[in-house]
Order: sequence, then C-alpha cells, then structure tokens
Amino acid sequence: MSAPIHAAAAVADLDAAISARLQALDYRDWRAAVEATGGCAAPIHLTGSTTVLDRDGAVLIERGGDVLAPCGNRRAAVCPACSDRYAADAFHLLRAGLAGDQGKDIQASVTDKPRAFLTLTAPSFGPVHTRKTSRRGFVVPCGCGERHHGDDPRIGTARDPEAYDYVGAVLWQAHAGHLWGRFTTALRRALASVLGIRVREFRDHARLSYAKVAEYQRRGLVHFHAVIRLDGPNGPADPCPPGLTDEALRAAISHAAQTATITVARPHGEPMRLEWGTQLDLRPIRPSALAHLEDAAGEFTDAALAGYIAKYATKGTGAVEGADRPIHDIAHVAHLDISPHHRRMIETAWELGDHEPYEVLNLRRWAHMLGFRGHFLTKSHRYSTTFGAIRNERRTWRLAQDLAQLDADTDDPNDIPIDPSTVVVINDWLPVRFGHRDHAERELALAIAERNRQHRTTRSTTTGRAA
Ligand SMILES: [Zn+2]
Ligand SMILES: [Zn+2]
Repeated sequence: MSAPIHAAAAVADLDAAISARLQALDYRDWRAAVEATGGCAAPIHLTGSTTVLDRDGAVLIERGGDVLAPCGNRRAAVCPACSDRYAADAFHLLRAGLAGDQGKDIQASVTDKPRAFLTLTAPSFGPVHTRKTSRRGFVVPCGCGERHHGDDPRIGTARDPEAYDYVGAVLWQAHAGHLWGRFTTALRRALASVLGIRVREFRDHARLSYAKVAEYQRRGLVHFHAVIRLDGPNGPADPCPPGLTDEALRAAISHAAQTATITVARPHGEPMRLEWGTQLDLRPIRPSALAHLEDAAGEFTDAALAGYIAKYATKGTGAVEGADRPIHDIAHVAHLDISPHHRRMIETAWELGDHEPYEVLNLRRWAHMLGFRGHFLTKSHRYSTTFGAIRNERRTWRLAQDLAQLDADTDDPNDIPIDPSTVVVINDWLPVRFGHRDHAERELALAIAERNRQHRTTRSTTTGRAA
C-alpha cells in the first residue's frame, strides 16, 4: 500500500522543487547556460576565463566567471543531449567516408570505390533464451520450451548459467578489438593475393579504409558493424587498382572473417581459440543517388547506412543503468538492477582481473563493460574526418561568430574585420563541480534536450534530411 503513496509524494516534491527553480532570481541565467549545453543532463561547472588576443597581444575579448560545459557522454541513458550530439557527429564522420564531403576533404569519388558493410558477431558460449518467429509470424518455442514475449528480460541470457562459458565469453570480449586487428591483417593478405602481390607490398597498391562501431547484443557480447572501403595507395582521392572489385572485396572479407583467430590461455592454462561467430552479414553499399534500388536487393544506401550505424554508437551494454561506471567494489554489483546473466559477466571479469596472466587486460577497469575494452567508434587513419576535426569546426565557427559580433560592436567604419586565424585564444578553465544540483534542475535540462530533439526531428522531416 505504501509504495504508491511514496511515489505520489516524490512527484509532488519534484513539482515543488521545479517551481521553486523556475521562480528563483537566477533562473534566466541558469536556463541560458543549460541551453548553451543543449540541455546536458550532467554538465561540468567550470570557473576561469577565456581571452582572445590579436597578433600583437592586445586583448580583443575577455570572458570570465562560471560556465557550464556539456558532459560529452556517448550513452543515451546517461545524457540524451550529449549522446544526440555524439550520434550526429558519428553520422557526419561515417557519411563523409561513404559519400564524400567537400568541406572535409573527402572526394565524392569515394562512392565509386569498392565498399561493403559487414557485421561480425561473437561466437556462442552456450545456449541462450531466444525469441524467433516463423515465416508466418508465429513465435517459435525457445529451447527452454517457453514462447518468450518480446519484452522478456530473459531473452539473450544463458539457459543454463552453470553450463554457460562465462570465462570464455569475457576472454573473447576482452580480445574483441585485437581480433578485429587480426581480421584486418587477414583481409589485407587476402586482397594482396587477389592482386598477386605479397602482403607487405599491399600498401604500395591500395589502402584499406574502414569505420567500425561496437554494439552490445542482449547476451552481453558485442557485434562490430563496419564500413570497409578500398582506396588507392594515396587514400580517398586515389583510384583503387582495377583487380579489386566489389565482389573481390566481399570474397576477401568472408575469407578473413573465417580465418582470423587468436589463441589465449584459460585460467588453468589450457589454450582457447578466439574467433568470430559463424553469422556474417555482408552487404554491398549503393550510392544514395540509386536509392530506389535499396529495398529490392536488401542493400543499403550510404546515407541510410551512416544513420543506422551512428545510432549503435550511443547504446550502452544493455545491462541496464547502474553499471555505467567503473566498479570499485564488487560487493555493490549484487545490488545493481541488472540481470543475473550480466551480473555473472561482470563478476567473471572482476575475478579474471585478479589473475596475473590477464593483468595487461586490466579487466577490473572494464568489468562494468562486461570485459569489452575497445572504443565504440573507431576508424582507420584515412577513412574520413575525425571527431576532433568536427568539434574544432564547431569551436572555430563560434569564435568567428564572436569576432563578427566584436566587429559589429565597434563603430569605427575604417576597422577591418578580424580574421579568426590570426587571433590567439587562451583558455584557462578549471572544473569545480559535476552535474546538476538536484532532480528539479536535471528534469528541466532533460526537457530542454527533449525540445531540441523534437525541433530537429520536425526540421529533418520537413527538409527530408537525416539529422
Ligand atoms: Zn551531457
Ligand atoms: Zn527460453
């Protein structure tokens, strides 16, 4: 009986706190600062100053005091605003490598290059609860005999936890990035043999460019979704040697996915072969200009694909909130709101982290990630632009705006506009506090983020562009 009363009281408290915040004297300033972060759910409070000097050292702009900076967290569960920005940046990064981007020095000729989209899966470490549907749409019974509902939290978790190979699963996951490295080496070797050259000569003939995103499956293991493109030896602008066709690329990818392996030792020393799962999803990529071909052949257009992959990059482990930060005390894991399956993976990573041979894997640091140590979006050097470049562009644009404002403010008609590339920016900021003061502030920030998101969706549907 008491739970609903508590819940109602909590809602009333939150309402009261929100209206108090709305009526506070500093509300307008606070709102402007939070809006500048896009409605970040956990902003960083900084104190300090920014000074913009001209080339002679004269101060053009000086701004000091307290500011809010966005947290920059990738995961939607942690910060919707920052994860939206991350997904948008990831989209531009992937799109530039697929379709070209004049502003980012990636020629549109990349669409003529052999390209493929592939998904590499994790192998099986024991039977899990599944929900499959028959061709006619009926739910096929799981191996446990039940027909699982789509929301059943048991889907993807071990059917028999005692028989499931948790040690193998964690060791595979901890080496997944390394296994990807083996895959790219095997791919270069397979492509070199198509050209009839040795693998060490490959660089002189062609270049393998890729971007990949890791996505957690319900069983707590990552899949890699990757865009692979073949360039000439000098990168995106350079044509690929004629022997390397779309078909040759796909055949080489299949071969490399089947042959890439790493052998590691289990805790008691017996060798374990790590490889990719047998499920390999491999598709050609069509330029957006040929979008009408998309559905018929089950192929992706480059724009649709960039959006699709960018979304994966903002997903968490699927272990549900609570496990989104490094674990310092394994006893706390017992109280986290996660499935027994995910808990076993965290505990296994923690235990393995204590074994000397696995020291280099730093598994305790990555236990909350279920052993996965890699980055969520990685790309080869010449694939396209970088996150850093995209952020820099945003910063430069803001500086240019500030300088334009300064020009507008000075009345002297003989003043020449200031060139942003000639100024020196000195940033001197220190973090003093993290996150919002209370639930009320957080709720208001989330509302700002939600409004921004709706605004963007309306805009992109009216202009027909993916955001
Ligand atoms: Zn944020
Ligand atoms: Zn089942």
